[in-house]
Amino acid sequence: MPIVPLYGHEAVRRRFRRMFEAKSLPGSVLLEGQRGIGKQRLALWLAQLLVCERDDKPCGGCMPCRSVLDLRHPDVFWVYPRPRLNDPNATAEDVIDDLAEGSAERLEKHGLYARASGSDAIFLATTLTIVGKAAMSPAMGRRKVFIVGDAERMVAQEGSDQAANAFLKLLEEPPADTTIVLTSSEPGALLPTVRSRVISIRCAPLADSEVLAFIRDPEVKSALDALALPRGDSERVSLARGAPGDLLSTTAISAARAAALRLLEASATRGPARYATALSHGSSGARGAFSDMLTELNVLLRERAETAIAAGDVHGAYAAAKAAIAVTEAQSRADGNVSPQLTSAVLMDALQGVPA
Ligand SMILES: [Zn+2]
Repeated sequence: MPIVPLYGHEAVRRRFRRMFEAKSLPGSVLLEGQRGIGKQRLALWLAQLLVCERDDKPCGGCMPCRSVLDLRHPDVFWVYPRPRLNDPNATAEDVIDDLAEGSAERLEKHGLYARASGSDAIFLATTLTIVGKAAMSPAMGRRKVFIVGDAERMVAQEGSDQAANAFLKLLEEPPADTTIVLTSSEPGALLPTVRSRVISIRCAPLADSEVLAFIRDPEVKSALDALALPRGDSERVSLARGAPGDLLSTTAISAARAAALRLLEASATRGPARYATALSHGSSGARGAFSDMLTELNVLLRERAETAIAAGDVHGAYAAAKAAIAVTEAQSRADGNVSPQLTSAVLMDALQGVPA
């Protein structure tokens, strides 16, 4: 069950083909553009272009082309944010096993996955694995391709400058047989040292006709039908706003938003109800959902601050802005060992005074 075809991005594809034919394809590329437009899927297409064995590249039919879409090509290594491995001394083998598990999940869903949970990241062990694999010869063909999805989630500040430097060096001067493709919907969050070492390619949102073709793909349709989404194609097209992949995150986003709203409302009350809400955030194992809730809480607070400013409510706007700072601090701690329950209880004090 290969992943669904690539829709749209014709101009970028033409550009890549031209560069490939002129042998001027850069060794390190950044695909940047809105979340949900298919940048990682486009990166897999680029990988096919690079490993295809036939003339009309990428043909989609040769063995290397097919193994890219079955996520089995030994020289195409696709990494993206994953939950932190429990073992702090995770080896390259652990990372590869974990990614194989992730790829099996993505493959099972035909490459139709929701956005990575807020606490998932590309941890140092993964970055080191890329560096290690890049130094080896290709196993099957002549080239190796590394795809780093949501590259802004690469954790650089985990102590080892040596590892960060090794990755930067790889980006700057990949081996002649290696192409590195980063993708990001938040390129501003990438380290400047990373940005300056890649050729950035801007990917546009899809045209409505391309979105329509995507959502009519049988696999896509059945994935979307399983979610709480409008049934009609035209409603789905307008909801997608050029980024149909984000429709797949609808459930996770609305659950996180509902949880954020509950926390905000409960903070305005007193007594047991208030702490019951805080305690409803599991103490462990629910970090991803908790982190997503914090993201949505920040969005809510920004909306409340803007409404308050528009209404001339200076105190309300100040309270919302101050609460947003507390949430941002909580977000930076959410990946540590602080329990979601305790964090929520503390946050509820910070949320007081936010206008309803
Ligand atoms: Zn091919």
